[in-house]
Amino acid sequence: MAFRPRGPRPGPPKSAEEIDEIVRKLRNEQTRPENYRERSLKLHGWICAKCGREFELSNLHLLTVHHKDGNHNYNPPDGSNWENLCVYCHDDEHSRSILADYLAGKDKKR
Ligand SMILES: [Zn+2]
Ligand SMILES: [Zn+2]
Repeated sequence: MAFRPRGPRPGPPKSAEEIDEIVRKLRNEQTRPENYRERSLKLHGWICAKCGREFELSNLHLLTVHHKDGNHNYNPPDGSNWENLCVYCHDDEHSRSILADYLAGKDKKR
């Protein structure tokens, strides 16, 4: 490990473009995984999209956010990739796709 005791000094005041970049990064932060659940609950309501079970604060932890395309990093702010599912339906959703993959022969690699 090579330490650089005297790193580059902070440059002149940031340009508008640099500030733009920082703002963009901060905006992206807002859709971090820790926050998408809250956003999805706000957008879609405290209700399971599959079985229609309604939730309240005391059991809200049983309501989870499913990513429709399976990509947890795809979190569009309009919520189009999210579905609120209770843990049971969520589990079901995933075991179904595992089963579908299995039936489609995608499991053969193992
Ligand atoms: Zn459900
Ligand atoms: Zn899911």
